[in-house]
Amino acid sequence: MTESKNPFELAQAQFDRGAALLDLPQEVRDILRQPLREFRFQIPVRMDDGSARVFSGFRVQHNDARGPAKGGIRFHPNETVDTVRALAMWMTWKCAVADIPLGGGKGGVIVNPSTLTVNEKERLCRGWVDQMWQNLGPRMDVPAPDVGTTPQMMGWMMDEYSRLTGEYSPGVVTGKPVDIGGSEGRTEATGYGVIFAVREAMKHLGIDSKISTAAIQGFGNVAQYAAIAFREMLGGAVKCVSCYDQRDRKSYTYSNHDIDPHFLQTITDEYGSIDKTKAAAAGYTIEEGDAWLCKDVDVLIPAALEGQINAETAKCINPNVKILAEGANGPTTLEADEIIKHHGIFLIPDFLCNAGGVITSYFESVQNDMNYYWEKEEVLQRLDQKMTSAFYGVLNMAQDRQVYMRDAAYLVAIDRVVRAMRFRGWV
Ligand code: NAD
Repeated sequence: MTESKNPFELAQAQFDRGAALLDLPQEVRDILRQPLREFRFQIPVRMDDGSARVFSGFRVQHNDARGPAKGGIRFHPNETVDTVRALAMWMTWKCAVADIPLGGGKGGVIVNPSTLTVNEKERLCRGWVDQMWQNLGPRMDVPAPDVGTTPQMMGWMMDEYSRLTGEYSPGVVTGKPVDIGGSEGRTEATGYGVIFAVREAMKHLGIDSKISTAAIQGFGNVAQYAAIAFREMLGGAVKCVSCYDQRDRKSYTYSNHDIDPHFLQTITDEYGSIDKTKAAAAGYTIEEGDAWLCKDVDVLIPAALEGQINAETAKCINPNVKILAEGANGPTTLEADEIIKHHGIFLIPDFLCNAGGVITSYFESVQNDMNYYWEKEEVLQRLDQKMTSAFYGVLNMAQDRQVYMRDAAYLVAIDRVVRAMRFRGWV
């Protein structure tokens, strides 16, 4: 069978499975299979050398029955509208499974941000808002940072929106720097959330976390804090992390008997690439390719990009792996899902596993509305409660209906969105 590389087709196929299990009527499937609204626009940007360049931008609002659309903006050279559509749909399910009152959206720009100067990035961010601002807002659609975008960029976007609307509106984007209305704990939130879910999965499976081991793909925001929390909260050992090297355009796995994420952070650039020479000097073993996936560990955490565990790569998963915790969005293809089920690996599906980021973004919006800000400890404690409760919501569904964890997550999420649509009289 040939695997589809189109993430929107994957998202729709996953939705179709959930819709079939819930026996949803056709009109409900029709509204949820496609985004409610899509925006495509051109963003002219004056470059530092005086020339003008035009970038393609997108915003997709998949569903807002449960509340304003919510989701990041990605700056990536290979961005496509179908990637944005898939990610917007996954945001709808993520907010619903986490039981926060938000819908799903996603945005993007086709650009390699590392090729722009700081001033050019600022003009591009302001240009994106200039095209979209009438369809954004704390009660309409609230973007956030994602791959290739940063808290600083959210600061520029918030400023541009506030300038256009004539009032200070910190709640129009989340993931802002703490000094201008960002939330404490947002940086750690997604990685820590992954590990809160892993902790509950280990309790469920009777695994002693203190002698457990993990292999992680990626060493960006999610992976770094997942690695830290795996060691410091669970007391386990991380055997390896992997990352993509921008210069050689290859991925590498960095192994040790128990890697030190704090040290690795000091030799990692802003794009999540580890300095090979410094890692080798510190005694790390460096292997090319997907070595992280074949390690003899208890937990695998893909936290890089979509489509990494596919029919080909899934074959090398070690038979001792017990938990697959999907830190990334859409890291596993439908075909690889079958291999994972066959191995009896316990899956924590992406939109449950990595919901910590959007939960904390929701806390940021709440704090912006109150104009009162919580300490980091309070944010992380509330995050733990929400993640734990979302985990058991899905686990209970999987046990009640005797279904795979991914299907259970879809059942919980789709049901909540459909209930909101029904109460609002849409279907
Ligand atoms: P990031 O850009 O900070 O880091 C990505 C990491 O993946 C980098 O270390 C990069 O080198 C590595 N990588 C890329 N391709 C690779 C490959 N082929 N092999 C090995 N490593 C590779 O991104 P992030 O914010 O950590 O996000 C990672 C994933 O988690 C994405 O799928 C993102 O959509 C998802 N996610 C992020 C958040 C968040 O709050 N940051 C929230 C939910 C989901």
